[in-house]
Amino acid sequence: MTSLKTELLIDPLIVRKNIIYLKSKIVKSSKFMAIIKSDAYGHILPNIVKDIDDIVDGYGVVRLEEAIELRKISKKKILLMQGVYSQDDFIESVKYSLDLVVHNQHQFNIIRENNFYENLWFKINTGMNRLGFEINDFLDIYNNHLSDKNFTLMSHLSASNDKNSPSNNEQFKSFEDLSKRLSSNVSKSIANTGCVINFPEYSFDWVRVGIGIFGGYIGNEEMQTAMTLRSPIVNIRTIKKGERVGYDGRAVAESDMKIATVYMGYADGLPHSLKDGTKLKINNEDVLIFGKVSMDVTTIDITNVKDCKIGDWCEFFSPESSINNLTSFNKLISYDLMIRIKSRVKRTYKAL
Ligand SMILES: *Cc1c(COP(=O)(O)O)cnc(C)c1O
Repeated sequence: MTSLKTELLIDPLIVRKNIIYLKSKIVKSSKFMAIIKSDAYGHILPNIVKDIDDIVDGYGVVRLEEAIELRKISKKKILLMQGVYSQDDFIESVKYSLDLVVHNQHQFNIIRENNFYENLWFKINTGMNRLGFEINDFLDIYNNHLSDKNFTLMSHLSASNDKNSPSNNEQFKSFEDLSKRLSSNVSKSIANTGCVINFPEYSFDWVRVGIGIFGGYIGNEEMQTAMTLRSPIVNIRTIKKGERVGYDGRAVAESDMKIATVYMGYADGLPHSLKDGTKLKINNEDVLIFGKVSMDVTTIDITNVKDCKIGDWCEFFSPESSINNLTSFNKLISYDLMIRIKSRVKRTYKAL
């Protein structure tokens, strides 16, 4: 018998469909940047790039190493969203024709010393208060150094997934007020996935879309989860009313029950905090987590499942059952779950 292994399947066809859907939402003239930081949100960066290169206009990553790896396989625009913090990194970035984000005076000093003004994206703070120039500081730099240069003005929204959050309009206003004071040649970019879905009129020149292409955006059923996480049943037992399951006896049987154990735990990247009652699928039927997630295994209530046996798959999420069902119920986010699945889980990347 072959050993029973937890698997992560990645389906690039779903990623392509999600991209095509998202592209249908944006203003026709805006370009589509696929954000593929953190190993393409856990979807294997080089494989994804090979499979979407014909339908995107560029890529965004955070680490220089990722950008260099990416340059070897794509000729499209590559935005290094972290920017550079040293002369050495600046030289590498130019060598690999990367676009650079400039967040602050420290980074701008490197640019100025090199007198190199091509392919720069200036990030401004419109309310996230994390990265980017304050508006007035940027205007000083603009007036002294940039008024005759081409560049992209960018910012990032803090609550784009919440259409009703007042912060969105405040951020749009501050972004547009600033851009009115700059040359009309300046390109603009503010939209992530949530903005494309909720405020597509703010697509501007570039959209920067990450979670949506992998199907982890909440509140839109058109985009499907591109990953399937599944683990085989390795044990089935019955327990009596009043018996407890797993560490600290968190789950108490209210009647006689049937319990399946699957070989996937927090050492595989499953969050330890998953609650009893979290819905999973076995043979297309709903089943519920019952007992704390252990390091190597998770226990599941299969009392109502008509027919299942050792070796059958328990699906945590898949294109048919969104990752958001699991994360929302547990107050987690899909971004975090996608990137936390560990290397001991067998990864299979489907052929397109
Ligand atoms: C991660 C990131 C994005 C993509 O955001 P999603 O919500 O995943 O679409 C866009 N812009 C920047 C600067 C980012 O860091």
